[in-house]
Amino acid sequence: MPPRTQRFKRKESIFGLFFLRRALCVLGGKIIKEFSLESIDPQQLNLYSYSINNPIKFTDSTGLSIELSCDSKENCATATQNFNKRKGKQFEVSLGKDGKLQVEGNVDLKKLSKAETALYNAIADKKNNATINVVGDTGRQEFGVHVGKGENTVDIQNLSKLDSPSNNGGLNSGDALAHEALDAYYSLSMDANTADIEAAKLYPGLYEPKQKNIQELWNTPRTKLLGMRYMQGITDGRGSMQITVKFNTPIPAIELDSKVNSKEKIQQTLKSAPARVLEVNFSTGKIPTLNVPR
Ligand SMILES: [Zn+2]
Repeated sequence: MPPRTQRFKRKESIFGLFFLRRALCVLGGKIIKEFSLESIDPQQLNLYSYSINNPIKFTDSTGLSIELSCDSKENCATATQNFNKRKGKQFEVSLGKDGKLQVEGNVDLKKLSKAETALYNAIADKKNNATINVVGDTGRQEFGVHVGKGENTVDIQNLSKLDSPSNNGGLNSGDALAHEALDAYYSLSMDANTADIEAAKLYPGLYEPKQKNIQELWNTPRTKLLGMRYMQGITDGRGSMQITVKFNTPIPAIELDSKVNSKEKIQQTLKSAPARVLEVNFSTGKIPTLNVPR
């Protein structure tokens, strides 16, 4: 039997499997219907209670049409503040008592950019309602995900990493929220992929990382996968963002060994592993190739 390090050698990164199924943009392309908490170490749970099944719902449905469905009032407030950080912002939003976004003050529609016009129209469209589930900690690595027609979920803690100094120049939490809002809104009238592409034309998203731009983060004896780091281009071409995520519980190498488990099983293991975004770093220019351990 070869030594342990040899045994886990593979030609392809295991994340190829993981990312292949992802849509264009990792901010919101992935369709995830449920979140699993089962394998989270209780010590990893933080002060934000996980309550996606018990969101603060507002009953008045006569208002405008991008609704925030939040796991706490604080996270609703944070998401609203985040919205107002979007690049190229030409109007402020606030949260109505009905849980729906409303535009503050008077807006000269003729002066709005294409992106701001689209966001304004989505908010002002009373016939079609899109919902953003606002969750403090989804237990997942995404900033935002598409969950179904007219519905996206965002992770407030992950989004906050976008606003750190290391990501200055990259997408911020407001850009990401505006992207997710339009993605949810467009998905009412088009398929998920098209909705994501259309949203990205107005508020950029992130391209799926290429194989060579995904780095696996193993412990030193290479017995456990601790996390991963991937480089993703921003869809408006301004540069790329390096995103470092950590699995809440390291994944034993044996569970990711294709000699022992089917590709589907490995993919499932990676997909369901609770993870958090640790760090986001922006860089301009070409996407630097990460050194993938072999
Ligand atoms: Zn997207």
